[in-house]
Amino acid sequence: MAIRRIRELGDEVLTKKCKEVTKMNLRTRILIGDMLDTMYEAGGVGLAAPQVGVLKNIVVIDIGEGDGPITLVNPVILETAGEQSGDEGCLSVPGKAGVVTRPNYVKVRAQNENMEEIELEAEELLARAVCHEIDHLDGIMYVELVEGGLHDVEPEEED
Ligand code: ZN
Repeated sequence: MAIRRIRELGDEVLTKKCKEVTKMNLRTRILIGDMLDTMYEAGGVGLAAPQVGVLKNIVVIDIGEGDGPITLVNPVILETAGEQSGDEGCLSVPGKAGVVTRPNYVKVRAQNENMEEIELEAEELLARAVCHEIDHLDGIMYVELVEGGLHDVEPEEED
């Protein structure tokens, strides 16, 4: 496993649409492992493949509530409900945050890292993370959705 370089806003790979993953192979398994390492190393709660420069429909999420990481391959949003507005940030836009309105509930169909069909129901922060990461697969950055502009955030203290 390895830490990959996180692409930042302005890198055109972040504006492109990702391709479907049709089969799991060693290269893609290594990518998923590296995405997890890179996300944890950077202190993020989610990471999409284009953020490490790979245009594949894969996201990893871990909001730190003990359920361990979630890997979504080819995720599709089936249902949304409700609304939440709150601060959102992105590892590709370091040191910034801004208010985005998202659904409060989402239901997603995807494959897991073994290409088994899964469904995920998410609320609140997890729903926000799922929507944010799936947007990356469509080349959408949250800064396009921010209400009222970006503001600076203090870097987290390292311990
Ligand atoms: Zn992001």
